Amino acid sequence: MPTCTALIVAAGRGSRFGGPLPKQYALLGTQPVLWHTLTALRGAPGISQIQVVIAPGDELLYQASAAGFDLPPPVAGGASRQLSVLNGLEALAGAPPDFVAIHDAARPFVRPTDIAACLDAAAVPGIDGAVLGVALADTLKRVKNDGVISETVPRRHLWRAQTPQVFRFARLLEAHRASAPLGATEATALTDDAAVAERAGLKVVMVAGSGDNAKITTIEDLQRAATMETRTAFGFDVHGFAPGSAVVLGGIAIPHGQALSGHSDADVALHALTDAVLGTIGAGDIGKHFPPSDPQWRGASSDRFMRHAVGLLAERGGRIVHLDLTLICEAPRIGPHREAMVDSIARIAGVGRDRVSVKATTTEGLGFTGRREGIAAQAVATVEVPRS
Ligand code: MG
Repeated sequence: MPTCTALIVAAGRGSRFGGPLPKQYALLGTQPVLWHTLTALRGAPGISQIQVVIAPGDELLYQASAAGFDLPPPVAGGASRQLSVLNGLEALAGAPPDFVAIHDAARPFVRPTDIAACLDAAAVPGIDGAVLGVALADTLKRVKNDGVISETVPRRHLWRAQTPQVFRFARLLEAHRASAPLGATEATALTDDAAVAERAGLKVVMVAGSGDNAKITTIEDLQRAATMETRTAFGFDVHGFAPGSAVVLGGIAIPHGQALSGHSDADVALHALTDAVLGTIGAGDIGKHFPPSDPQWRGASSDRFMRHAVGLLAERGGRIVHLDLTLICEAPRIGPHREAMVDSIARIAGVGRDRVSVKATTTEGLGFTGRREGIAAQAVATVEVPRS
């Protein structure tokens, strides 16, 4: 599997934002925008490391946003966005990843599935990079200084470029090094990394993303992002024991004298959580999306079911507020594995670990769990979705 480092550019001063802090450090809910962005990137499959570039002097703001993420120290940005990216790339060059995903700190709503699509597109042989974007829907006008429209610009083939922008690392570093000595006028025209890559003759493709992946530019953007409603839904699942040596619960393997039998890897915890998340958006149940009768799901790792449900929620502009799981069994003992399970579920769901709760109970020897015939799981998902 190729390595990909997410390089998050958080060095901007945000002159259009108008708040007391640069927008990447402004609070969105109870956490800074950058914290949300880091959480989204950490949950994305294929991202092996995260490096943030910040403006010198923002160290304390950065520490408050990145606490608990266990990241390498931030890299100091330069006088322009391009020089900030170059500083970040140079910092990675000692142990270069195969790919680098440049991402704006002020795009906290990026979907893990879109990041993965960009990575896949950039890894195609003969392609140097891939950019997430959306095709233009509005009519475009060219307007003169006096406010009079001079022409309507055909919008066919025009896209709005977002981030992440994923490139083969060595290619992008070379392109940035070549652009660094440019004069101010020419450098100002290079407003994103794809422009730097295009100038160097690299082959960069566009990947269709979502309008939700908007950049927070103004205080109003931040307020709009806060008009959400809360929903709660429940999930339940049971799997019986079968011969084996481990059970998979919450995405981690726990040594046990038996395994769980059934659909996929029989991760009863992730199945209950997946159903709960699907329930918040009325999207049916796990069996509808991944029929047990379909041989392709035999032995499948259940994290993909959970990621799918979280992806459907994200497609509706929603996000997980909290996940609460109760495992019901006499054995194995859950306590020693609780922290690892919380970590695993948080990663799969793309949320902070303070939003995941794992509990366990027995049924005092009663019923099928009491007879040690299997494990049951109950889950409650609480989410926020745009107010309808
Ligand atoms: Mg199941």
